[in-house]
Amino acid sequence: MTDLGHHLITIIRRPETVFVEGHGSWLVDERGKRYLDLVQGWAVNSLGHSPEVIAKALESQARRLVNPSPAFYNRPMLELSERLVALSCFDRVFLASSGAEANEGAVKLARRWGSKTRGGAHEVIGFEDGFHGRTLAMMSASGKSGWSNLYPPMPGGFAKARLNDIRSVERAITPQTVAVMIELVQGEAGVQQADPDFVRELRALTAERQLLLMVDEVQTGIGRCGRAFAYELYGIEPDVMTLAKGIGGGVPLAALLCKDQFNCFEPGDQGGTYCGNPLMAAVGLAVVNEVCRDEFLEGVRQRAQRLARGLQAIVRDHGLVAERGVGLLRALVLPTDEADRVVTMARELEPLGLLLNAPRPNLLRLMPALAISDAEIDEALRLLGMALQDTHPIVFESPGRPCSAPERLHFA
Ligand SMILES: *Cc1c(COP(=O)(O)O)cnc(C)c1O
Repeated sequence: MTDLGHHLITIIRRPETVFVEGHGSWLVDERGKRYLDLVQGWAVNSLGHSPEVIAKALESQARRLVNPSPAFYNRPMLELSERLVALSCFDRVFLASSGAEANEGAVKLARRWGSKTRGGAHEVIGFEDGFHGRTLAMMSASGKSGWSNLYPPMPGGFAKARLNDIRSVERAITPQTVAVMIELVQGEAGVQQADPDFVRELRALTAERQLLLMVDEVQTGIGRCGRAFAYELYGIEPDVMTLAKGIGGGVPLAALLCKDQFNCFEPGDQGGTYCGNPLMAAVGLAVVNEVCRDEFLEGVRQRAQRLARGLQAIVRDHGLVAERGVGLLRALVLPTDEADRVVTMARELEPLGLLLNAPRPNLLRLMPALAISDAEIDEALRLLGMALQDTHPIVFESPGRPCSAPERLHFA
């Protein structure tokens, strides 16, 4: 044990290593060890580590204009908003710096709309196991176990329903309900997908009861699920959407989007020092322009298929429970609560480590760069098989699985 990080306020246990460099799908630590990264800043680095697109956007914008104040227009703010509106079913955009901040903005917008048009209705229905961020109010909005009373008194006005159970939503509605907030694929909960029928019923129910349908696409948006936005997969149009993570490609950037009819803040109702700052907006514009192209999104879907097939082979070979996910947001369900141990084994593999995430005791989440190569996917599957060998040894080797092929990657 070293005393690494002893000046930091304790928030999480970190491995005893310091990362100093990242390129594409690879991270390098201080000792020069390389890691194939399937965490990517928690589904943030859509284009991988240190992509040229971001370096260029940062450099040229930093030399031109960093922050004139949120009370003035700037070009990147206008261009990014225009691009997001063109890509989506929404008309209006508010730029922010984190997912929690965008979601707080969504709840404020819903309450404002409730005070103007619904006689003060203000309650927001969320979902069990949902995750919307770590501010006090978003902890209340989230359905993570143990969070409802971690920092009492917690903000009120949030009810909970069960994902894929439309009756539970109906039961949670009161005369004070103003909105339903949902992750179409619950990320932190372990990549749990909302059923298409449920989402269509939810859209109909919220419209009928005059409730806003607000989708939290902080994790699913900007190409992660193989489309610009996950709501497209469901054939519905939400009223409000939030984005963060992938939209910045690694830098702090978030967005709240709504249809014109819900553009109901009065000047002064909402804001923030960094809202719409040109430095981050320029990066967001560069990332969105790169990711939300048809060819790129088609590539994401193909890579997702390759990864899913490889994971299915691993499920068979190692006797695991299941593989699931949408696009490049995927999970492996283990038969035992040893996900943390697999994460450690994977990281400690030599000479190349593999970085994984375990949001649940029995579940691994995989969130590679959207631009990961086929060869890197195969290499990740090979390393994953090795990392599982200790806790879940091979029970059956299927013929011709991509990860059993000899190593054929050349590292620059
Ligand atoms: C990560 C996440 C958030 C919180 O975003 P921050 O940028 O960490 O505040 C909110 N909602 C979802 C679905 C997320 O995955």
